[in-house]
Amino acid sequence: LTIPDLLTGTVADMPEHPAAVFRAQNIRWTYAQFSREIDRLAGGLLSLGIEKGDRVGIWSPNRAEWLLTQFATARIGAVLVCINPAYRLAELEFALNKVACKALITARSFKSSDYTGMLSNLASGAILPSERLPHLHHIIVMGPDIPAGMRSFDALCAKGDAACVNLDAITATLDPADVINIQFTSGTTGNPKGASLTHHNIVNNAHFVTQAMRFTPADRLCIPVPFYHCFGMVMGTLGCVTKGATIVVPGEGFDPRDTLKAVSEEACTALFGVPTMFVNELALPDFPDYDLSTLRTGVMAGAPCPIEVMKQVQSKMHMRDVTICYGMTETSPVSFQSNMDDPLEQRVASVGRIHPHVEVRIVDADGNTLPIGAQGELHTRGYSVMKGYWDEPEQTAACIDARGWMHTGDLGTLDANGYCAITGRLKDMILRGGENIYPREIEEFLYTHPDIAQAQVFGIPDAALGEIVCAWIVPRDRATPTPETIRQFCKDNIAHFKVPAHIVFKTNLPMTVTGKPQKFIMREQMIAELA
Ligand code: ATP
Ligand code: MG
Repeated sequence: LTIPDLLTGTVADMPEHPAAVFRAQNIRWTYAQFSREIDRLAGGLLSLGIEKGDRVGIWSPNRAEWLLTQFATARIGAVLVCINPAYRLAELEFALNKVACKALITARSFKSSDYTGMLSNLASGAILPSERLPHLHHIIVMGPDIPAGMRSFDALCAKGDAACVNLDAITATLDPADVINIQFTSGTTGNPKGASLTHHNIVNNAHFVTQAMRFTPADRLCIPVPFYHCFGMVMGTLGCVTKGATIVVPGEGFDPRDTLKAVSEEACTALFGVPTMFVNELALPDFPDYDLSTLRTGVMAGAPCPIEVMKQVQSKMHMRDVTICYGMTETSPVSFQSNMDDPLEQRVASVGRIHPHVEVRIVDADGNTLPIGAQGELHTRGYSVMKGYWDEPEQTAACIDARGWMHTGDLGTLDANGYCAITGRLKDMILRGGENIYPREIEEFLYTHPDIAQAQVFGIPDAALGEIVCAWIVPRDRATPTPETIRQFCKDNIAHFKVPAHIVFKTNLPMTVTGKPQKFIMREQMIAELA
């Protein structure tokens, strides 16, 4: 199936069923209205000369126009390019040029302080395409007060409404194997890479994620996670549409109070979040005032999910059947998800079992498949593996091998029942004098020290040992640990070869916009400081 195919049946069978609620914008669409709004925008995009295969960027927080753009581009076969709303000008330009976007759709309201400056800078002289943006022809802005040289989103929809085009005839030419979406990776290990995903990749992944939660049209999913990321747009919006369920969007960005209010007032049955979102919701002083009794399931993902948080989500938020997912942008994204029927203790001990129609293996450094229980690199294969990195054949060949296995770069183990535990990242593994060292183990140990707020461990080159262990530590407020006290603490408790040779204290960690620590930056800084 293609993305537009998903709507056909629901619109015909349940035209009055609620499709989406955008609380901050006071928008409520039935499936019939949703489909009609999509067609207006699709017609508008066609009127600008946007055709099948053209790239259309979206740079906006979670708004109704984002959802329309997702489905209107798919309706005409244009490729949706998801751009992080936290990107600044340089990152935005990089993304637009990297994949040659023909149009950019963006929000005026966005809480980006220098937003207007950025946009006028982009459209400098208001003549597009420009030298800096040789591929960009249109900037389309949501809401009123359209800056000079840019187009109004609303006017474009009105134009699309008036245009007599046979959208069904265009949709009929689409092939599920066509690329329909480019998503950028988080940039944890280097520059973000643009993964090219097809209808087939993401429609199926959306289906299996919501199937694992047994979604039906009666489900109402609260989505506080960003749309620009596959968590929001594949598992969330597309996941709902595959089941005719209802999308509930509490606000443009994440706010714990708005989220719980949306759950209680909209009677949501499911909730998504990264672990820290759930932590913030549970910590609200007025938490007991929200009626969360309609919740039954949801997903916690994106980072390791602490057992205590999972327990509280289950007992205090009524999410009896909460699941954990593991995945990556390059695999559409999910490949492992917990089984709702397993006891919670078992659900938190792993990332669950492999998704239907996906294969997994654990391999050693030479590519040999390892036995049950052994730790190695996780490889996955199946419908979910991306077509490749956009315009990067070499990088693509470096991670998808000739037999179709995606080399995830993550380390893990599989048990006899197929449950997978993620134990770290291959790029993080330290090879010290022939010894394999897993930073996550040392980090977890460092976190037990009362003076340490955050700790990151990584290797740097060493002439004698190949690599040596370094620790980047953010002390707790008012604590004044010394390298000697921390080193002694390690020596007393862990093997000598794991004890960090270099320990530095810093006020923060370099992070990606998705909140993941960037060790490659810490490593570079450490090497420079020691030189
Ligand atoms: P880049 O590829 O640019 O370095 P990234 O890999 O962080 O960045 P994403 O595709 O957003 O970009 O994230 C996928 C990664 O997130 C996985 O490869 C894995 O390391 C981590 N991850 C995802 N889910 C989980 C989970 N449930 N538990 C532990 N780690 C997870
Ligand atoms: Mg990655």
